[in-house]
Amino acid sequence: MKNERETDNRTQLIYETDGMCVAFDAVVIQSENLPEGAFVILDRTAFFPGGGGQECDSGYITTPDGEDIRVTKTAIVDGQVRHYLERPVPAGTAVAGRVDAKTRYARMQNHGSEHLISGIIKRDYGYENVGFHMTDEEVVIDTGGILTDEQIRLVEERANEAVFKNIPFVISFPTPEQARNSQYRSKIDIYDNIRLVSVDGYDVCACCAPHVNSTGQLGVIKITSAMPHRGGMRLTVTAGADAYHDYVMLHDNNASIMEILSSPRRETAAFLREYAGKMNSLRSEATQLKKELAKVVTETVIDTLKTKDADIKTPEMIFTSCLDMKGLRDLVNECTKVYGGMICAFSGDDDNGYGYIFAVRAECAKEADIKGFLEGFKTACGAQGGGSDVMVQGTCRAARKDIEEYFRPVRNNA
Ligand SMILES: [Zn+2]
Repeated sequence: MKNERETDNRTQLIYETDGMCVAFDAVVIQSENLPEGAFVILDRTAFFPGGGGQECDSGYITTPDGEDIRVTKTAIVDGQVRHYLERPVPAGTAVAGRVDAKTRYARMQNHGSEHLISGIIKRDYGYENVGFHMTDEEVVIDTGGILTDEQIRLVEERANEAVFKNIPFVISFPTPEQARNSQYRSKIDIYDNIRLVSVDGYDVCACCAPHVNSTGQLGVIKITSAMPHRGGMRLTVTAGADAYHDYVMLHDNNASIMEILSSPRRETAAFLREYAGKMNSLRSEATQLKKELAKVVTETVIDTLKTKDADIKTPEMIFTSCLDMKGLRDLVNECTKVYGGMICAFSGDDDNGYGYIFAVRAECAKEADIKGFLEGFKTACGAQGGGSDVMVQGTCRAARKDIEEYFRPVRNNA
């Protein structure tokens, strides 16, 4: 029989000495039905009411007639562990308690890994744990000093060595005198009612939460990120069941990359690096080809324009798909050198829209009224843009056939 402590209301706290106990018998010693919810106080409990960075437990209590009643949450209020229930259960009832074991176990694995990581950092590098919180999938630890990548790797390796050694988590309740003479990690200087959690050779820490029996039950420990934070490091750590789920997710992710790149399982990074290198050279090649294509397009357009008689009332339409706005402007500038009429050049496609530039020589600006022409085009084709008396530019979402449709009467009337 373990020596369990009691709350002020004489509830034996099973979780303090036996974190692995998730099913227990108890008697309701107080029952309340308050506006904020019904709750019971039990003579003994394995439900952890939350604290030390770890969330409270939930689960069920079962009445003598076999009815399962949901324990929605637990909390310490006025020194008593309240079990909030979906419906009241009278005082004096003998019940069976059942903690949501999967959640509790995963939390204890993450929490226990924090003891090892923080203890090793303190032991090997002298830095305190200056901040700590737990999410549903991991623990976050803030250290009092900077650690190198190599030191972080060693911390993780040593934490996993401790797991493989399967060292017991030892719980003790030192007297204030014993506490004063002990070395242990604690955020506050109190020596009364201390509960110490020790892992021989790795950590001694004042802590209120339930723990696994020995380090082997923590499962694998992985530091998943390490960032500089307020003069120290912020480490994110996952262990046990959560580390397994993280591994499965990363494995599936890696399998997808293997399939895409046809790469061996352990060489996805090298294959991806090679792939990224090829992408970069293809991008450079594409840029060069676009330049050359623009040159050819410009030469072809110019050759055609040279054969035409300029008519200021007849806009000359040019469509291309390969030019950006700078390329389009260069093209238009070359065109106005050889052609005296209005140039209306478009680049793009129906799916992504068109960039356009309309231009005319300065001496024809008044007669061409390019801005007036633009207003009609904007209204008809939903275009945006503006410019000067000799050049306007913008974008247009209309399809090519609709743009050509708009230009047809303008061109036919000429
Ligand atoms: Zn702890």
